[in-house]
Amino acid sequence: MKPRLGRPWRTDPGTFLQVPEFHHVDVLPLGPDNTEYRQLDLGGITPLRIDGQEFLRIEPTTLTGLVKAAVTDIQHLLRPSHLAQLRAIIDDPDASPNDRFVATDLLRNACVSAGGILPMCQDTGTAIVIGKRTEGVLTGRAGADTDEAAIARGVFDAYQELNLRYSQMAPTTFWEERNTGSNLPAQIELFHIPGERPRYEFLVLAKGGGSANKTFLYQETKALLNPTRLAQFLDEKLRSLGTAACPPYHLAIVVGGMSAEYTLKVAKLASARYLDTLPEHGSGLGEAFRDRDLEAQVLELTRNFGIGAQFGGKYFCHDVRVIRLPRHGASLPVGIAVSCSADRQAKAKITADGVFLEQLERDPARFLPDISEQELAAQSSADVVRVDLDRPMSEIRAQLATLPVKTRLALTGSMVVARDIAHAKIAERLDAGESMPAYLRDHPVYYAGPAKTPAGYASGSFGPTTAGRMDSYVEKFQAAGGSMVMLAKGNRSRQVTESCQRHGGFYLGSIGGQAARLAQDCIRKVEVLEYPELGMEAVWKIDVVDFPAFVVVDDKGNDFFASTSQPTLQVSFR
Ligand code: SF4
Repeated sequence: MKPRLGRPWRTDPGTFLQVPEFHHVDVLPLGPDNTEYRQLDLGGITPLRIDGQEFLRIEPTTLTGLVKAAVTDIQHLLRPSHLAQLRAIIDDPDASPNDRFVATDLLRNACVSAGGILPMCQDTGTAIVIGKRTEGVLTGRAGADTDEAAIARGVFDAYQELNLRYSQMAPTTFWEERNTGSNLPAQIELFHIPGERPRYEFLVLAKGGGSANKTFLYQETKALLNPTRLAQFLDEKLRSLGTAACPPYHLAIVVGGMSAEYTLKVAKLASARYLDTLPEHGSGLGEAFRDRDLEAQVLELTRNFGIGAQFGGKYFCHDVRVIRLPRHGASLPVGIAVSCSADRQAKAKITADGVFLEQLERDPARFLPDISEQELAAQSSADVVRVDLDRPMSEIRAQLATLPVKTRLALTGSMVVARDIAHAKIAERLDAGESMPAYLRDHPVYYAGPAKTPAGYASGSFGPTTAGRMDSYVEKFQAAGGSMVMLAKGNRSRQVTESCQRHGGFYLGSIGGQAARLAQDCIRKVEVLEYPELGMEAVWKIDVVDFPAFVVVDDKGNDFFASTSQPTLQVSFR
């Protein structure tokens, strides 16, 4: 289809020169909203008519209730379209066995979290609420919460009452921080939109650290607007996203933008598929548009990386959004963002007809393949190597030394859990001349931090955190006899591979994004070993059964990700 060009120019009758006409442009012109909503029984809305104009009074408690319901839903439920994409991986004969295994595990995780007790991921994220209201919405009342406060209260209530994790660190001095204990502050942004009938629209997201950290800005130039150069650029940058944000990803690429921050904001909205109804061509007036042909080409590019859904294959991405924005002639910001396997967002709206929240899938089991428990067990045990973690560390390492990278493992026995602050404290002890704690010498170490433990459960949602943050400790710890077998998600730096080769260590990859299933099916016991005052950052000992993992880095200098992170530089778009 040919692009439809706008007509911003007219001929000046005096000079016969072409001069621009005023033309206001909505830079993100969205099409009709086809989202399926469910109505919430919240009340607190009163339609009014003043001087013939419609207004809608909305009580702050309604905003609070809506946001609480949205946060609750997105922590436990996924969109049907996302679940269908996981199922499509299982059904694809070209998907690798590891792709299918990861997709099946993520679907099973969705089934556990849909029960409403264990959140789908242990990193329950930073709450983000974007609101847009028309002029006819009335919310202000003397002495009542502002809109922002009412929304924050909804976030607070959800994080207090559900089995979520508090991740927000507030600085007390430049160097010192403390957990706010409420997961506040949330990121709340409210905007005005035109519209004759009053309505208040929302997008509510929970963004984990792993996926937020994979948001990138590149300040490029016009030279990038070339099919070969752009393909080479994306080949390099997209591979470097790695797997720390738990693919398969919903990937968004934004080229252009009136400012760097606007580019990144559009990338975030696109990764949430909030901008899917943008036009598909530019008019020359400055509206954003999606380039669907380029989206298909970028998706194909990512399928050839070999990274797959975390451990080799073609499903690095579920889908791709490519959005082109206007730009200053001297700038070309490029934004890249992903939505991870905890694909948490929901739209909501308040109108005179009521309070509505996006309908997420309450029965994810319908997306699981229709196979018996026995078949599932047989599939799960095919090509998997069982590792007894309760043997001496030398025996565990001797077994791992016989296995090639990408081998699928089922771990049973005891592990120690330690992450950022515990690593920093142990490093200080080593620097002070103390020896490596026995627990890090005798057991594999799992980099993780749990969400709250629900009553009657052994563990809260307890998936892996990003391994790369611990890279700088590995050489020091392994030289002191600790961290010889590490378990987490994502790729490691060259220094970790070298340290493992030097000291006989291993890095095992755990599937990111399946924290609820791990808590329900694989973790039998959790106890604090040291630093209980650190909360979820304490050192824990956990007993696991058939905990899934893959060999990623071995003791011979092999790193699964090393082969997939090298750009080919022989690519071009059409
Ligand atoms: S799925 Fe992975 S990237 Fe997403 S929030 Fe959970 S741990 Fe972070």
